[in-house]
Amino acid sequence: MEKIVVIGAGTMGNGIAHVFAQAGFQVALVDVQIQVLEKAVGIIAANLDRQVKKGLLSEQQKTETLSRISLSTNLAEAAPGKDLIVEAATENPSVKKEIFKLADQHSDAGCILATNTSSISITQIAAVTRRPEKVIGMHFMNPVPVMKLVEIIRGYATSEETCSKVKNWTLLLEKVPVEVNDAPGFISNRVLMPMINEAIFTVYEGVATPEAVDSIMKLGMAHPMGPLQLADFIGLDVCLAIMRILHDGFSDSKYRPCPLLVKMVDAGHLGKKTGKGFYTYS
Ligand code: NAD
Repeated sequence: MEKIVVIGAGTMGNGIAHVFAQAGFQVALVDVQIQVLEKAVGIIAANLDRQVKKGLLSEQQKTETLSRISLSTNLAEAAPGKDLIVEAATENPSVKKEIFKLADQHSDAGCILATNTSSISITQIAAVTRRPEKVIGMHFMNPVPVMKLVEIIRGYATSEETCSKVKNWTLLLEKVPVEVNDAPGFISNRVLMPMINEAIFTVYEGVATPEAVDSIMKLGMAHPMGPLQLADFIGLDVCLAIMRILHDGFSDSKYRPCPLLVKMVDAGHLGKKTGKGFYTYS
């Protein structure tokens, strides 16, 4: 049975731990605080309950899935003896580079190091390790237990072997791997985020209310969720971080973050996770 570490137990990390554990992997979930880890397990249990209620999972499978997840606040202790480490920590290049240095230092030589980054260069993250051929992007979509896509991003030095192992593991999760090369925002966020940013500009300029923007995109373009509702769901801080990566990476003003997005993040209105964004959540 494959053993993995998931680093970061936030929105994405708890979902990634969930799907790997459900597929039979032993998962060590790592975060900086035990309270965050305990909250994450509560969310995983609630999401598994929902699957049981829908008849997608038995009560026994739920119990077995939870029993495969262990918690740790110490990456150096959790990393040895693992086949794969998936990092899903805060979208910040220096945070990720520090984590990759540590993961490289403490994991076995054969261990593959994957990042769930939405936009940061895989090539740059790989360059801080002694194994750039074993570093890869494994970009899950939110909510992880529901969404089928995993965008697989090859850095400049990522080997064929690493890519094929990660694609096979993705298939074991009953998800669909789609391979792309490293470029700012990859495909998903290079296309999605400018649309969200433009939707925010329309609100900023007083062209329409958030409800009107979302209704137009849902009813007119058959989007299941409007761009502002989706931004709240993703987290406005995450959206801003991605826009900044696109802006820096392409040096093109068309990627400048909308001032309203910056202001909302400064105010701590980060969307669903803080209860307030373009909409309010209880
Ligand atoms: P989040 O803020 O919900 O969670 C991040 C977690 O990382 C927090 O619990 C934090 O305590 C932890 N963390 C920070 N530094 C750490 C460290 N040094 N060691 C261990 N844990 C650490 O963020 P999120 O939305 O889950 O995003 C995580 C990653 O996934 C980001 O790279 C983001 O771009 C990417 N992503 C997010 C979404 C989304 O919809 N939110 C979708 C796809 C990819």
